[in-house]
Amino acid sequence: TKWVYTFGDGAAEGAADMRNLLGGKGANLAEMSNLGLPVPPGFTISTEVCTWYYAHGNAYPAELKGNVEDALAYVGKLVGKTFGDPANPLLVSVRSGARASMPGMMDTVLNLGLNDVTVEAVASASGNPRFAYDSYRRFIQMYSNVVLDFPHHHFEEVLDGYKADNGYTLDTDLSADDWKEIVKRYKALVEHELGKPFPQDPQDQLWGAIGAVFGSWMNQRAIVYRRLHSIPESWGTAVNVQAMVFGNMGDSSATGVAFTRNPSTGENALYGEFLINAQGEDVVAGIRTPQNITETARKEAGSDKPSMETALPEVFTEFNRIAGVLEGHYRDMQDLEFTVENGKLWMLQTRSGKRTAKAALRIAVEMADAGVITREEAIARVDPAALDQLLHPMLDPKADKAVIGSGLPASPGAASGEIVFSADEAELLKSQGRKVILVRIETSPEDIHGMHASQGILTTRGGMTSHAAVVARGMGKPCVCGAGTIRVDYAAGTISSGGVTLKKGDILTIDGGTGQVIAGAVPMLQPELSGEFGTLMGWADGVRRLKVRANAETPLDARTAKNFGAEGIGLSRTEHMFFDAGRIRAVREMILADDEKGRRAALAKLLAAQRSDFQELFEIMDGLPVTIRLLDPPLHEFLPHTDAEIAEVAEGLGVSAAKLAARKKEFDEFNPMLGFRGCRLAIAFPEIAEMQARAIFEAAVAAQKSTGKPVVPEIMVPLITGKREFDLVKADIDGVAKKVEEETGTRLDYQVGTMIELPRAALKAGEIAETAEFFSYGTNDLTQTTYGISRDDAGTFLGTYISKGIFEVDPFVSIDTDGVGELVKIATERGRAVRPKLKLGICGEHGGDPASVAFCEEVGLDYVSCSPFRVPIARLAAAQAAL
Ligand code: PEP
Ligand code: MG
Repeated sequence: TKWVYTFGDGAAEGAADMRNLLGGKGANLAEMSNLGLPVPPGFTISTEVCTWYYAHGNAYPAELKGNVEDALAYVGKLVGKTFGDPANPLLVSVRSGARASMPGMMDTVLNLGLNDVTVEAVASASGNPRFAYDSYRRFIQMYSNVVLDFPHHHFEEVLDGYKADNGYTLDTDLSADDWKEIVKRYKALVEHELGKPFPQDPQDQLWGAIGAVFGSWMNQRAIVYRRLHSIPESWGTAVNVQAMVFGNMGDSSATGVAFTRNPSTGENALYGEFLINAQGEDVVAGIRTPQNITETARKEAGSDKPSMETALPEVFTEFNRIAGVLEGHYRDMQDLEFTVENGKLWMLQTRSGKRTAKAALRIAVEMADAGVITREEAIARVDPAALDQLLHPMLDPKADKAVIGSGLPASPGAASGEIVFSADEAELLKSQGRKVILVRIETSPEDIHGMHASQGILTTRGGMTSHAAVVARGMGKPCVCGAGTIRVDYAAGTISSGGVTLKKGDILTIDGGTGQVIAGAVPMLQPELSGEFGTLMGWADGVRRLKVRANAETPLDARTAKNFGAEGIGLSRTEHMFFDAGRIRAVREMILADDEKGRRAALAKLLAAQRSDFQELFEIMDGLPVTIRLLDPPLHEFLPHTDAEIAEVAEGLGVSAAKLAARKKEFDEFNPMLGFRGCRLAIAFPEIAEMQARAIFEAAVAAQKSTGKPVVPEIMVPLITGKREFDLVKADIDGVAKKVEEETGTRLDYQVGTMIELPRAALKAGEIAETAEFFSYGTNDLTQTTYGISRDDAGTFLGTYISKGIFEVDPFVSIDTDGVGELVKIATERGRAVRPKLKLGICGEHGGDPASVAFCEEVGLDYVSCSPFRVPIARLAAAQAAL
């Protein structure tokens, strides 16, 4: 097996299409080298070594050591240096690089190969001892931190103390001798804390770093990240070892990161940040405030520090050219890392840039319009789930706002919530159903779970490429970063700015689109769905086969859904209409009634309300199909729970509390989800279904008149297990239809169908289809009953199941295609065998999940139905599934 792949000097053993083997970073370094771009030479240890390492108790293949030595010699030859050589040492960087970019893993060790001897060689070769010792202290700091697991802040304390003692404020105040002294103190500190000296042998250093990269694949943060992003553990990571180039050699040296287009807005203009006389970690860490790449960006930001365009004009021209080459070559917006060493530009990384949904849309549409990619590619480029970001409310510009500070608009959308200062707190409050804003000086991979649990993230340090900004954009969370005027005091649990102090638990609002930070809550506006969004959705609608409907019962939901492009209502849960203040009393009277006559009297009071609900739905949907489901939940859900509530409700109803309590007891169930619900209600109390059917038919007649369009209601029977139940309920519905036809003199066109949400119904679909005119897969209940996992209680062990790899994702979120999906396939085949034109849809939560939508396309359903805000997601996912 070939374990190691070299690159550099216009050639490479790898290429971009080898990312599974070389990881994203390694494959693209090889590709850039093949393109003849200036890449410091190096080599990639493949992901197969990582797999081998874990399969063999953390050991390496026997040949690896020799392979690495050969590759180091090759690199050394290209740059004219030798690794470990006391007089002319090759220094290298060591970086991880998985297939997908993965924060949370060991990232980078720079300047590896420096020790007490080689540092002197570097000092004399460069004629710059200050640079040599600055590099050495950085190396000790980074290596100790990421390889030896030695906390960073120890070093900061040493450095801060030294600066204070000597009256220095900036790092640039320190001379070569100062750094030399710092190196001495760092080494002593490491030896004191770890009980052994800092490794001096470059070979030990290198294998220590390689081991740390492979080890980091299995650290807790990486595992959490993989779980959140469905990245399989089996992929492994590669290790990239590369000759060092130095951005910290002086004022004609620099380091930076840039995007070929604006990752926040999608604007077609180079966008990035750099620092003169610095190494890569300085930019990301946000210790110094970075400078803009272009003059335009500098002016927009109102920065008084020169842009790269003016500070290093020749380098800028070359960088601009390379950015164009790379974007053209990859046909996508690129995220670039570079270093300038003494005026010479070196490319350290290129990859498809992470972007906001807004930017993704704009870039995809503009690239398709420019003929760089096809419309199909544009459709495929936008992650449907990320559209969510665009569909969320923005701050009402007219609202009063107590702005207390501002930072960089790192990830769009507005959010309000209680202030919390730690990731754990965020997670805890979220689990209590509370909304939080995570406020940190800066974030690190340890904070990811808390970022996930928050509505939005605020940091006071770091730029647009800081950890918080990159991760929040990836998650689609609003984020304001680098809000430097706001002071965070973790110990006191406060933030303060401009004389205002807020404490933990106070409500804070952030606007990730403008960077504003606001005390208190702010009214929000619904988003605008035009521009590139409209264009891309139009293209998507042109290619998709699946129809997209919404689950909606209130007029507001129905309007939102229609606005988002829903082509009908796939599920209207009528029980939601029963909870309305004016109606719950009649519902309770119905439940308390001693006989059918009493129930009918109470139901008569509900008829008018239901009729007007349905009429409004039909009118809003204006001729589009509307599926209305008969009452589904167990009746006790409508009864009060505590003694105090029972007493109060009984008084209101004019019955004794004892009677109400007794009736409630009759309806109590151990397993209500498997109890007296669904069609079982319609079978035991046909008068309920009859009232609902009458309300639907009368509403259809009225809506037909008011809209002038035919209304064909689809009445849906829930939770059947077979044909007999369905036929009984259908007979009642048909009976009501006849009566309404006679009473109104109007011929009714309607369909009666059923939910398939129990395994037996799926198996008996052939028989059921003899009389049912449509099926809608209720995959919430079908998942619950197929797995025997309660929808309501799964949370207690689901996390364990996911972390142990039994489930890759929560089966209530993304359909289990193997098991639950097989039942859907069986029911589809058996149903269509009997009734070839049987209309088939899905209305469980899965209807808005892109992976599940792809499954629905594969099975050949007619439509998916999902919550209104997920309609655009489903439209795009359906288009992608059809490509
Ligand atoms: C389902 O079970 O998938 C469904 C849509 O019905 P409900 O969630 O109302 O049980
Ligand atoms: Mg259900």
